[in-house]
Amino acid sequence: MLATAAARLGLRSHIYAPEADSPAFDVAAFHTVAEYADETALAAFAKSVAVITYEFENVPAATAALLTRLCPVYPDARALETAQDRLTEKSFLRNLGVATAPFAAVDTLTDLITALAAIGRPAVLKTRRMGYDGKGQAMIRQGDDTEAAFRALGGKDLILEGFVQFEREVSVIAARGQGGEFRAYDICENIHKNHILAQTLVPAHLDAAACKRAENLARQICEALGYVGVTGVEMFAAADGVLIVNEIAPRVHNSGHWTIDGAVTSQFEQHIRAICGWPLGSTRRHGAIDMRNLIGTDALDWRKLAAQDGVALHLYGKGEARAGRKMGHFTRVMPET
Ligand code: AMP
Repeated sequence: MLATAAARLGLRSHIYAPEADSPAFDVAAFHTVAEYADETALAAFAKSVAVITYEFENVPAATAALLTRLCPVYPDARALETAQDRLTEKSFLRNLGVATAPFAAVDTLTDLITALAAIGRPAVLKTRRMGYDGKGQAMIRQGDDTEAAFRALGGKDLILEGFVQFEREVSVIAARGQGGEFRAYDICENIHKNHILAQTLVPAHLDAAACKRAENLARQICEALGYVGVTGVEMFAAADGVLIVNEIAPRVHNSGHWTIDGAVTSQFEQHIRAICGWPLGSTRRHGAIDMRNLIGTDALDWRKLAAQDGVALHLYGKGEARAGRKMGHFTRVMPET
């Protein structure tokens, strides 16, 4: 989707991926299949492009560091390092004075027992790195086997978080340009099923003051990181309007996919504009938004969806509709009520 947005602006993309069948290859001018640790391939790639970005926050820090010596990389290594480790991320937010779930580092079973005593149950034990869509997480409720959860997640490099009793989940899709210009889309409300994003609604069921606070939190985070590009900042909204930041995605975000059909500038175009040093585009919405993800076999309904009036269908060209895999999405843009 980034390569498609770039092409619309007259720019050509070179995709670097370890997988031989990356769907982005179908829509990009050039591609390289090589490992993230392949220094020769990385150097040749960096030489062939004017600017580098990523759409996956688990690019190893060493890969980003090597590329940064050869070519501008946005978002930069600091943003990547902050966002790819939940402990670094939460400590960064706490130092900024941004509310997060209570948390503690867990490297031993004793750490976990101490943290559970301080934070209380229910709590969520997570791997510090590489977790997504509920992978690498375990809820610890009253009576649960603590040691089993600890062992199941690898027994080190973990974080324990207090369970937040949220009313809804929201996200801010925002962009910061190279000159510090900041633009946010309207706040998104996100509904998860089995820890995977199922649906995004815009506008969110959040009052104007809370929306403004959410946008300001995203702005504060972007400014503190000197961020360049689009980010998705995920938050929990409590019934009393308090916002708790859960995660910073240093990339375009699934809850912003509606912007392709529902906003003047898509988040993908906005990201390309930001990393290329262009002016940021308008984030104005075309109407009320209902975006649904097609997870696993949901995508097999594509023919029915394609026939529906008002449905903008996106299929990602991924080979196999495995359970839990994001295969596509569709967006309805409706008149604002
Ligand atoms: P994450 O991988 O941190 O984005 O978590 C995936 C989903 O799990 C979130 O969108 C929430 O629905 C839920 N979740 C994660 N952490 C917490 C928490 N500390 N309290 C309540 N729910 C959580």
